[in-house]
Amino acid sequence: MTAPAAKSVSPHTSGHPRAAAAFVRDDERAHWHDQALWFVRVKRDRQAHALPEWEALRETAGAIKSHVMSRLDEYLEQFEREAVRRGAVVHWAANAAEHNEIVLGLLRRHGATKVAKSKSMLTEECHLNPFLERHGVEVVDTDLGEWIVQLRGEAPSHIVLPAIHIRKEEVGELFHRKIGTAAGATDPLYLAAAAREKLREVFLNCQAGITGVNFAVAETGGLVVCTNEGNADLGVSLPKLHIACLGIEKLVPRAADLGVFLRLLARSATGQPITAYTSHFHGPAPGGELHIVLLDNGRSELLAREEFRKSLNCIRCGACMNTCPVYRRSGGHSYSATVPGPIGSILNPARDVGQFSTLPYACSLCASCTDVCPVKIDLHDQLLAWRREIVVAGHLGLGKRWAMKAGSFVFRRPRLFSFLGKLARAALRWSPRWLVYGPWNPWGKQRDLPPPPRRSFRDEMRRRKR
Ligand code: SF4
Repeated sequence: MTAPAAKSVSPHTSGHPRAAAAFVRDDERAHWHDQALWFVRVKRDRQAHALPEWEALRETAGAIKSHVMSRLDEYLEQFEREAVRRGAVVHWAANAAEHNEIVLGLLRRHGATKVAKSKSMLTEECHLNPFLERHGVEVVDTDLGEWIVQLRGEAPSHIVLPAIHIRKEEVGELFHRKIGTAAGATDPLYLAAAAREKLREVFLNCQAGITGVNFAVAETGGLVVCTNEGNADLGVSLPKLHIACLGIEKLVPRAADLGVFLRLLARSATGQPITAYTSHFHGPAPGGELHIVLLDNGRSELLAREEFRKSLNCIRCGACMNTCPVYRRSGGHSYSATVPGPIGSILNPARDVGQFSTLPYACSLCASCTDVCPVKIDLHDQLLAWRREIVVAGHLGLGKRWAMKAGSFVFRRPRLFSFLGKLARAALRWSPRWLVYGPWNPWGKQRDLPPPPRRSFRDEMRRRKR
């Protein structure tokens, strides 16, 4: 297939390289962010290695999700039937706009103006908070990390650890300004207690609770929500109205399958054997209403693309982010997308290939993401496949296009490749150290070059002639 004439890169391009450059400019933060995520990755490894059946669990989970995707229509209908039988109301939303309208309609019908929301990447995807706030509804994110980024007016930078890019000193300063904690306080226990006190007020006074959903069981019509803070349970305990927002890909066939996914999820996400709270909802609480909003928003189109279908198997554990050398060193916000990291670099171009054309290149193709994914998504293969799609669609930037052409020219000529390799080695060896390690050269900061030659270049040449 020949590529069509290249279009100019979209003006809305996410510009990962530019945003990543801004992140790494703060060298200390970039290193600290890298180490914080690596710490989580190591915890995950310890948990995974402690389970002899780990690989079998991954295999089973991947197979179950692929089976669900092959019969998604049937499982969705079964789920709706069972959920309705248990007293829930099921709504179908084709896109983010419909989803938000449904949620707003429900809140208006109940006269709700204050809402406690637990962590839900789906509502982030739909930009639900700003939409509701524009319509006079106050929404409070009750997950501590989400609340911190909400107070800062930012989006989460990670799907499981939304405030991983923020230091405790910054949280202390933020809480001092926003909720009046002691100036200069950085003790996490003190700050968490202050947040708890504030959020209790929200739980006591909200008129509706909105939650995301980790798993929806087709067999029972039940919903499973996992949190470490119990905020989802608190948010829906007092109000009469519980709205659960759910992507259509979150289904599992049977309640028995949960054992596989729950064991994988917490271990992969944070290196815990299980999340502190795993709450099951079957129908509304007595006297209350449970509304389930099922969202498509491009998922069925992805389902129709065999090469990328497996990306719908994602259980949003975030392990691929914690291990990714690019994510760890460039920060979640550099992806300019709700879901960042390796899985985000696959899901976002599926939504808008022009806007997110730089994301599949934010990858070293080391395949570490594929190695840790609990549902065995072939992430690095899909990232490579997206690069091909981007070239074919004509969204590759000019610089990269010429670099690829030059690379391909050299790689096809082994003698030229070997000559250029020697030339580069010599240039690095003989170039003055200040040129390589100077503050203007970020590349040099990360390199250990061979020791500098003891003789000058001229002496070396003379020696060789002799
Ligand atoms: S792609 Fe795999 S590793 Fe990444 S968030 Fe999804 S399930 Fe976790």
